[in-house]
Amino acid sequence: MAKKTYLDLKSEVWDAGTCSGCGACVAVCPADALSFSEGTSGISPVSTGYCKQETDSVPCGACYAVCPRTSPKPADTIGQYLDLSSASAAFDIPHKQSGGAVTAILASALDEGLIDCVVSVTMDRFTLKPSSVIITDSETLVMQAGSRYSWWVPLLAALKEAVIVRKYKKIAVTGLPCAVQALARIRTGDNDLLVPYAGAIRLIIGLFCTESFDYSLLTEKLRRDYATEPHEIRKMDVKGKLVITRHDGSTTNLPLRELESCIRPGCHHCTDLTALFADISAGSVGSPKGSTTLIVRTPTGRAFVDAAVRSGKLVLSPGVDTVAIEKLATEKIEKNRS
Ligand SMILES: Cc1cc2nc3c(=O)[nH]c(=O)nc-3n(C[C@H](O)[C@H](O)[C@H](O)COP(=O)(O)OP(=O)(O)OC[C@H]3O[C@@H](n4cnc5c(N)ncnc54)[C@H](O)[C@@H]3O)c2cc1C
Ligand code: SF4
Ligand code: SF4
Repeated sequence: MAKKTYLDLKSEVWDAGTCSGCGACVAVCPADALSFSEGTSGISPVSTGYCKQETDSVPCGACYAVCPRTSPKPADTIGQYLDLSSASAAFDIPHKQSGGAVTAILASALDEGLIDCVVSVTMDRFTLKPSSVIITDSETLVMQAGSRYSWWVPLLAALKEAVIVRKYKKIAVTGLPCAVQALARIRTGDNDLLVPYAGAIRLIIGLFCTESFDYSLLTEKLRRDYATEPHEIRKMDVKGKLVITRHDGSTTNLPLRELESCIRPGCHHCTDLTALFADISAGSVGSPKGSTTLIVRTPTGRAFVDAAVRSGKLVLSPGVDTVAIEKLATEKIEKNRS
């Protein structure tokens, strides 16, 4: 039977408005025929019109095979796990979002040669514009700690560069739950074109996520309604509201209902808070301020956490508030179920 192609993706996902913007289809298209445009028109990818299978009758279907929006929505809260802890980095990470645990695990893995690189999303600290990047040293990783709440590039864009161009074989990826779902499909799928990706992805770290914002719309809203330019912002945090902390120490709390128009449309179809398909999931809810909640889901995830603890970069403590995580995850499922 012919594999499904970008035309099926278009009718089932793009035109239905459910695309998350994870960028997995863009990354794995062997013809580089899919892309996102910047701004509000870029809520789902566009095609050049060329397709290996549709145009040249060469079997492909890679884009459809990786898309997380072509399967039933996951509806678990914390999901399956081996260990649950509050964690923090044992060294100074100035821009860490929660406890710096994600940076500590990845820095330890890079320093010990357990991975070649990290495919992640960083941002320009002046414009706050995010980019999909490949990081190969722990110093850069530490400089780039922190969460990117807004979007304008496909989150997994750098994955193709890491696998196909640079030919890295031991890749760690950080991603939001939608991107993690796509990575899980890459790992477990049976499409031959995904084999190089599946073989190269060693570790998947998922970040908890309630929603993400369109970069242009959020920047414009903050400028217009809060007289705040991106370069004035030191940190953003989502905790039931968007908390903005400026370099001068002032803060503004924005209720999420005021930011409704900035939320990426695909997020309204997302029911996964805790990155259910990651090796390790990380979030702030459930742990005290200054710590990261770590959900270790697989033996691979456990090996990386153990290595970081052994190297003296990561400290674990018990006592995660699972009720708080369950509550937030259930709210997300109920809001976006239909
Ligand atoms: C859009 C978004 C929404 C979130 N919503 C919640 C929430 O509602 N509740 C909650 O408990 N936690 C949420 N988190 C997770 C939380 O903000 C922290 O990322 C998490 O607690 C890990 O903190 P840390 O200090 O260990 O990470 P750090 O040590 O600061 O490291 C974070 C790592 O993740 C990478 N990264 C940052 N943003 C992205 C991104 N968008 N995509 C891929 N990689 C990225 C960075 O490059 C860095 O390597 C959200 C994160 C994001 C990005
Ligand atoms: S959800 Fe991801 S894989 Fe699916 S169409 Fe959107 S960008 Fe592509
Ligand atoms: S809510 Fe988060 S995980 Fe879900 S689609 Fe939006 S960005 Fe992706």
